[in-house]
This record gives sequence, structure tokens and C-alpha cells, in this order.
Amino acid sequence: MRSLIEKAEKTHTLTKEEIVSILKDDKYNEELFKAADRVREKYVENEVHLRGLIEFSNICKQNCLYCGLRRDNKNIERYRLTPEQIINFAKNAHNLGYKTVVLQSGEDDFFNVERMIKIIKSIKEFDLAITLSIGEKTREEYEAYKKAGADRYLLRIETTDEELYKKLHPGMSHKNRKRCLTDLKELGYEVGTGCIIGLPEQTIESIADDILFFKKIDADMIGVGPFIPNPDTPLKNEKGGTFELTLKVVAIIRLLMPDINIPATTAMETLNPNGRMIALRCGANVVMPNVTEGEYRKLYALYPGKICVADTPAHCFSCITARINSSGRVVSKSFGYRKKKV
Ligand code: SAH
Ligand code: SF4
Repeated sequence: MRSLIEKAEKTHTLTKEEIVSILKDDKYNEELFKAADRVREKYVENEVHLRGLIEFSNICKQNCLYCGLRRDNKNIERYRLTPEQIINFAKNAHNLGYKTVVLQSGEDDFFNVERMIKIIKSIKEFDLAITLSIGEKTREEYEAYKKAGADRYLLRIETTDEELYKKLHPGMSHKNRKRCLTDLKELGYEVGTGCIIGLPEQTIESIADDILFFKKIDADMIGVGPFIPNPDTPLKNEKGGTFELTLKVVAIIRLLMPDINIPATTAMETLNPNGRMIALRCGANVVMPNVTEGEYRKLYALYPGKICVADTPAHCFSCITARINSSGRVVSKSFGYRKKKV
């Protein structure tokens, strides 16, 4: 096992079988985490990039089985910010010191191309990088957003297991999800993807496939989070993912894709009160604090136990900055694009 970790640290390659054996054996986790931390320091150094997350609509036309925003969930109070509110939250994020905002929502057709272009163009005036995370769109829509000034796009593949994907995403197709990722890459976006760890029926082998898929498509950012069963969804009685397995996946991703951006995800902190700081020591180099203001944070309930729902953007910014600084890392002042080194 030690020689496998060494190989990954040196060559940034592992076979599927090798990934599976690392994931299945917990005796060498500390070695794995330390190796990932060394590779993180060597390739992306000590800077942590903060991305301010604006959750602008919890209205969704999709019905993903695990997600609290799914359209059949009648137990959630729906909201949608106005374009003016979104632009204002972005401006406030810029004033706090953010260099990037992430605009995330359910798949809400109110935000058509015309409205999104207006929002993107207005936010670009604040000298912010923009990441969109608004689901599956046509190539033409992606192109229009890129032209308007969007820089990055987050669209998790969720799982590369096609059968499982089908069961979890009624009316959606794995083929279209992959088409989206290809289009985004071709259009010049920095592409973020990722998966959920611990979905019902998900195997360790399929998680290894996920990791190799991320490498194959040369993703620029990979976000992984544990599955957290939501009581308002059909998966409410399923077992969730574990913090430890998610952390191991983060570490292996860092070993195999040394120069990409890897967030310490919010869902990890839901399972462990220090989850993001731990992830930052095991390969991660990005945090996405919430910059949504007011009651909306609470209503954007993908999963239960979401952190910081009662906090303000200013509080979250200073809290995470202090924690990053006290861990010996620094908050980056740059836009934090991927610098390709391999
Ligand atoms: N609608 C967009 C963006 C919002 S959902 C999209 O689907 O791409 C953002 C992410 O939340 C999803 O990609 C999914 O991985 C995650 N998510 C949703 N429900 C979850 C749950 N119960 N546990 C863990 N992650 C979840
Ligand atoms: Fe909608 Fe995204 Fe949730 Fe699926 S994961 S139901 S697309 S918000």
C-alpha cells in the first residue's frame, strides 16, 4: 500500500484496481493524506481560494432522488432572487474581498438566456470571476453565457455508473450530462465536476471509475461531497456517505490531478465540525463560503444540517479567513484560475 501511495505521489497515475485497493484499506489513511498534502503544497502552494456562493433560486424542474430542491418536494418553501438582488449580493461579496462568485440554483427556467446575460454582464463590472452552477443547458446557452463573461462552470457528473445515474435522475440522461461537460470544455470554460460519495448502491469500484473519469476529461476543478439523506426525498431512509471515505477520495484526486482546484466542500463540514479544515490538509485548496444574504440560505436545502444558515456573509468571510490563517495557509488575492503544470 505504501508503494502505491508513493507511486501516485511521484507519477500521478494509478490503475482502477490500485485506486480500489487504497479506498478499501483504511490502515494507511494517514500516509495517503500526508502524501496528498505534500502534492497540494508542491503544485498549488499554500494559497486557499475563496469563492463566494450565491444560491439564487431553489426552484428546480428536475427530480434528482437525493436532492431537497427536486420538483416533487412539496415540503420546501420556494424562492427566487431578483436579478437586482443577485447583482447586489455579488457586489457585496466583492466588497468583502472575494475574487470569484459562484451563481448556483436549481434548474429554473425563469432565468433564461436574456436574464442570465444581464446578470453576468452586470457582475463582470465588479472585476469578479464568475462560476455558473445552474445545471444542464444547450450548447448555445453555454456559449451565450461564456460570451457574456462567465469564466467557469460547475456540473457534477454525480456518478459515472450509468445504471445508478438512471435510477437517481428520472428523465435525465448520462449522455446529456457528458455532452454538457464536453461542450463546456470546448467553449473554453474552466470546468468543475465531481461526484457524491455514498449514494445507495454505489460501489467502491464505481468511485474509482469516477476518479479516472475526472482525470480523463481533464477537469479543472473537482468537488466531492458525502451523500446526506434528505428527509423530504425518496432516499430519506438510506444510509449516507462517510466523512472518511470522502476525504480519501479528495486525497486520491489530489495525487492524480496535482494542479487542479479542489474545494473542501460544505457537505463535509456538515458531517464533521472541522471538516473543511481537515480537507484542506488532505489535498483541498478551495473553500466556497456562502454569500447569500438573509433567510434564503436556510431555504436552499439540498440536504439537512447545512452549516452557517444563520450567519451573514461578513461573518462567514472573517470566520473562514481566520481559520485558514491559523492553519498556516493564506487566503489568495488572485482570481485562482487553474495553472496547468502537468
Ligand atoms: N442544479 C444544479 C446545481 C445545484 S445542486 C446541479 O444539479 O448541477 C448542487 C449539488 O448538490 C449537486 O450537484 C449534488 O451533487 C449536490 N447534492 C444535492 N443533494 C445532495 C444530498 N442530499 N447530499 C449531498 N449532496 C447533494
Ligand atoms: Fe435540481 Fe440540481 Fe437538485 Fe437535481 S441536484 S434536483 S438539478 S437542484
